[in-house]
Order: sequence, then structure tokens, then C-alpha cells
Amino acid sequence: MFKVKIPSVFFHFIFLITGFFLASLFAKEKKMNQKIIKTDEEWKQILSPPVYQILRKKGTERAFTGKYYNHKEKGVYICAGCGNELFHSSAKFDSGTGWPSFYQPIAEDRIETETDRSFFMIRTEVHCARCGGHLGHVFPDGPLPTGLRYCINSLSLDFRKETNDK
Ligand SMILES: [Zn+2]
Repeated sequence: MFKVKIPSVFFHFIFLITGFFLASLFAKEKKMNQKIIKTDEEWKQILSPPVYQILRKKGTERAFTGKYYNHKEKGVYICAGCGNELFHSSAKFDSGTGWPSFYQPIAEDRIETETDRSFFMIRTEVHCARCGGHLGHVFPDGPLPTGLRYCINSLSLDFRKETNDK
């Protein structure tokens, strides 16, 4: 009787531990994808005026003025509003437009797009999927493999340099 009981308790214990482990993993994943919602006033307090103008008011920096259009270091470009990892330097290319250009985001779910009909044009606006911050536009004239050109404002990005040489 005693001999039978010990293994059953043991398996219950393993089952519980596994359950907790999976639940914590799931919670972490959920947190990563959680939307960041702030009022306009809150964003105004956190962001510098030029960054606020781009991210929250859908502004566009002048071509060839941003800090990243000619930036060639290896690393990850993150959202200046919320730190969401958006583009890897390996997907960056020189489009000659004066804005940092990428042919794909790090993952499809990092960004969202929307039709933009301002300035008598129909363009596709790109924003951060986590905080909704305006990043730039995407055009169908990029290089392979995607044929897309994500034309992004430097001001909407921060850069995290890759430290190892992988
Ligand atoms: Zn963001």
C-alpha cells in the first residue's frame, strides 16, 4: 500500500511543477504582446517633442536628417515609444531616399499597417503593433526577398547594438 502511494504523489508533484512552468511561460509571452495604451498627455510627457511629433502625430522627418538613414551597425532597431523590437540591421538596405529602409520587420506581428489617404496619396502607413506609434510607410518597390520597402523615420527608432560577433 505504502509502496504504491509514493509514486502517485511523486507524479502529482511533477505534474504540478510542469503546470506552473508552462503557465509562467504563457504569462511571459502574453506580456510581450500586450498593448501599451497611454493618453496623449502621457506620451507628451515621456517623449521628446520631435519624437512625439512623429510617433503620435504621424509626422515625417526631413530626408537625410535622421540619425539612422546611413547607419550601418549590426543590431536591432526598436520602437522609440515602447522598446518593441521592430527591424534587424540585416534587413536594412540603402534605398537612397534619406530614410532608414528595411525589407522586412523582425516578425510580422511587431508592426501593423493602415491605409493612409493624407496629402492626396494612397499610402500604407506602418505603426508599432504594441504602442500604436507611427513609424513610416511601406511601399511595394523594395528588394527581394519581400519586394517591400519599409520607409521608417529615424526619430521613431532607437538602436540596440549587437555585442557578440555572431
Ligand atoms: Zn511601440
